Amino acid sequence: MQPLPKKRHGNREKAIMTGTPEQAAYETKKQRLAAVLHNGVESSIRLEKNTSNLFRSRRPRDACGLDVRDFNRVIRVCPEERFVETEGMTTYRDLTRECLRYEVMPTVVPQLQSITAGGAVSGIGIESSSFQYGLVHETVREMEILLADGSSVVCTPENGHSRLFFGFPNSYGTLGYVLKLRIGVVPVKPHVRLTHIRHRDALSFFTEMERLCQSDIDFLDGTVFGPDELYLTVGEFTDSAPYCSDYTFRNIYYRSIRERPTDYLPVKDYIWRWDTDWFWCSQYVYAENPVVRSLLGPKRLNSVTYAKIMRWNRKHDLAGFLDRLRGYSGEAVIQDVEIPLEQCAAFLEFYFNTIKFTPVWVCPVKPLQKKTVFSLYPLDPETLYVNFGFWNVIRTRTKKEPGHYNRLVEKKVRQLGGMKSLYSDSYYSREEFWDIFNRKEYRYLKNRYDPDKRFKDLYEKCVERG
Ligand SMILES: Cc1cc2nc3c(=O)[nH]c(=O)nc-3n(C[C@H](O)[C@H](O)[C@H](O)COP(=O)(O)OP(=O)(O)OC[C@H]3O[C@@H](n4cnc5c(N)ncnc54)[C@H](O)[C@@H]3O)c2cc1C
Repeated sequence: MQPLPKKRHGNREKAIMTGTPEQAAYETKKQRLAAVLHNGVESSIRLEKNTSNLFRSRRPRDACGLDVRDFNRVIRVCPEERFVETEGMTTYRDLTRECLRYEVMPTVVPQLQSITAGGAVSGIGIESSSFQYGLVHETVREMEILLADGSSVVCTPENGHSRLFFGFPNSYGTLGYVLKLRIGVVPVKPHVRLTHIRHRDALSFFTEMERLCQSDIDFLDGTVFGPDELYLTVGEFTDSAPYCSDYTFRNIYYRSIRERPTDYLPVKDYIWRWDTDWFWCSQYVYAENPVVRSLLGPKRLNSVTYAKIMRWNRKHDLAGFLDRLRGYSGEAVIQDVEIPLEQCAAFLEFYFNTIKFTPVWVCPVKPLQKKTVFSLYPLDPETLYVNFGFWNVIRTRTKKEPGHYNRLVEKKVRQLGGMKSLYSDSYYSREEFWDIFNRKEYRYLKNRYDPDKRFKDLYEKCVERG
């Protein structure tokens, strides 16, 4: 058993609690960014940072890079008041490490270590605690947002900028950049006990999922290997464990789901169980091969390495070139969608008739706030949704129109009353897009917070490829 690191005491903790050095450093950095924008930039603006989990190919463009790399500090952890205050580009790896020192974790931690707090809120973030707490943005209490003119506003659900607070999720940096946030935290125990339960058909799988969402467990997600091989994974905090498995190097977590009905992990390893192999996507760069694994070593087996390789490949189109040599044409289908529970069996049927590749990651999500709708990602607060994540390339001998499979997904998701994330390729027409993503509210927010249109428009950024 690995005990949690000791809580920190003494001067440093005091400094964090009074907030002085961290707050001061934050204010200085903020003024630097404000000065860049106040002086006015000729071109449009983009974020300059070291990591990204965005999977849309775009041509390089002439844009002013805003260097936000040093907005990566945790300002303070307040376990008693159940929140952490952090700068916007802090990765969840650093944020979670700091929280665990205080025996708490951010309420919803996206699975990839390099996702940043700001990125998860301006995009959409989810994990196995989402059946209790909703999407990542529902765990946010306050945000300070840098606007295109260099000014900044603090928005909360109650203050004069509440419409920005509720419209910011899914705005992908087109309204402003989060520089600082307060995020909810929950207490942890040292270990998580996992139970992997197999189901042989979609109906029993989703019925059991619904039941578990009402029970007293801590985490719930699922992995679908085929129409008759579906697993629910229940996670429960425990103070002690008879043993702990290790999926950080030689062993592969997603394979264990089929192999063992129960398992134990230290809480940190549970949180990052999907990162070592990027769910199962490490196989696309041969990292499941034991020799390649040994050569890479545990430090490089993570989502940052794979994302770099994938981006390099997208830029140089090596895989596409090899496919064409072999007479195939390929389409990347990298999507996360939310479907209302009662439509999930229908979605899986569609999936196995069209997209077909497996595994598929499945995760229930219940909006936490019953009276509020996040305007650019409007889920019904009374509905239990299920997120399906599927990431691969479909290769065919016959050439199809660009985005053929992604369009089918978009159409089906709409038909079933679901929502699709925008971090990857989208093919919506302008009309369709704004029907889904709330044109009226976005216009209001854009006019109020970026009237000179120095940031791109959401449709241009997320759909257009020019
Ligand atoms: C293969 C794959 C799998 C994924 N799986 C999951 C998953 O399992 N769970 C999950 O929760 N999410 C998942 N995501 C989605 C991911 O959470 C979002 O793409 C998120 O926006 C990435 O955050 P980032 O910090 O890496 O931001 P980036 O990739 O750097 O940026 C994403 C977008 O957000 C904007 N942005 C970034 N930081 C800020 C900021 N501080 N303020 C305003 N705008 C900002 C950028 O301008 C950009 O448009 C996945 C993505 C991919 C590609």
